[in-house]
Amino acid sequence: MLLDNHGRTINYLRLAVTDRCNLRCFYCMPEDGLNWLSRRELMTYEEMLQACTLLVKMGVEKIRITGGEPFVRKDIMQLLTALSKLDGLKELSLTTNGVLTAPHVAELKAIGVRSVNLSLDTLDANRFFAITRRDEFASVMETMQQLLKHDIEVKINTVVMAGKNTQDILPLVQLTKDLPVSVRFIEEMPFNGEGHSYSGIVWDYVRIFDEIRQSFADIQKVPDPQFSTSYNYHITGHKGSVGIIAAYSRTFCGTCNRIRITPQGVLKNCLYDDGVLNIKDLMRLGMNDVKLEETLRAAFNVREKDGWEAERKRLENQNFHESMATIGG
Ligand code: SAM
Ligand code: SF4
Repeated sequence: MLLDNHGRTINYLRLAVTDRCNLRCFYCMPEDGLNWLSRRELMTYEEMLQACTLLVKMGVEKIRITGGEPFVRKDIMQLLTALSKLDGLKELSLTTNGVLTAPHVAELKAIGVRSVNLSLDTLDANRFFAITRRDEFASVMETMQQLLKHDIEVKINTVVMAGKNTQDILPLVQLTKDLPVSVRFIEEMPFNGEGHSYSGIVWDYVRIFDEIRQSFADIQKVPDPQFSTSYNYHITGHKGSVGIIAAYSRTFCGTCNRIRITPQGVLKNCLYDDGVLNIKDLMRLGMNDVKLEETLRAAFNVREKDGWEAERKRLENQNFHESMATIGG
């Protein structure tokens, strides 16, 4: 078992395979996109596989592929297929915006992907365009249908944004009545790639819950799975469920089991930290797996206590936040 310096289990890796994206969600990146990484700066699939193989050997049991948009990277199914064969890996999943995903769903099922996080902030096509700056609502809905048809668990990620989509909270909860999906409302975080930062949020997890409870009085708390970042609920008679993720309030750091690798190979011990080392660079310098394992263990030994501490240190070095697409949300 892999433990950090606070005694927390590390068994979950989120691997961002690209910073590029076919949407421009305003809370994630500017309209003109980002200063995209060059091919040379990106980890190759071989490097990702090597890093994942080592981390699984060290104790990682679950890998989530994210980005940017994973399906924008060429031949992403090749990487997913290779990862699905890793000895010791118990769960492979991904987070996608669903624009290009539908044609790959049958293959995802075939390689053993059991659960997919689908990002969807509204059920209204016009608001979808206003938020993502792209007219792709229909393709995302098609992906949801395909996932359900193939019996892959669907978790819908909805970022709640004051003045943008709070009118969508109740319709999205209502969606769980007839569909076996889990809708998870996420507090907005300061990672929009434009240096936007703030001292608090209007729609925090308490307010989101209050909004739901006023219309769904019979909403009930259900036990949260181990290491869960969401508070989980069920409404009597609904096929699906509801979750609330206090991503800004950071109520879950005490049991944080996750590490991240960014598209350029930076290991992050925390979403809010500045990165601890660059795995890709070490590999390219010829570091072997024995030494790399030692280096990784040393990095897990200096993990910040929580996201507040990590953010404080990060802001000492630079006073702005990057895009979620370069972090791997
Ligand atoms: N492109 C894929 C997608 O959108 O699902 C994967 C990458 S995206 C960065 C991963 C998740 O981060 C998405 O669910 C997205 O909504 C969330 N996210 C992006 N920026 C965020 C922000 N500023 N605050 C909260 N969540 C954010
Ligand atoms: Fe792209 Fe995902 Fe960021 Fe939206 S949240 S811009 S879909 S990477």
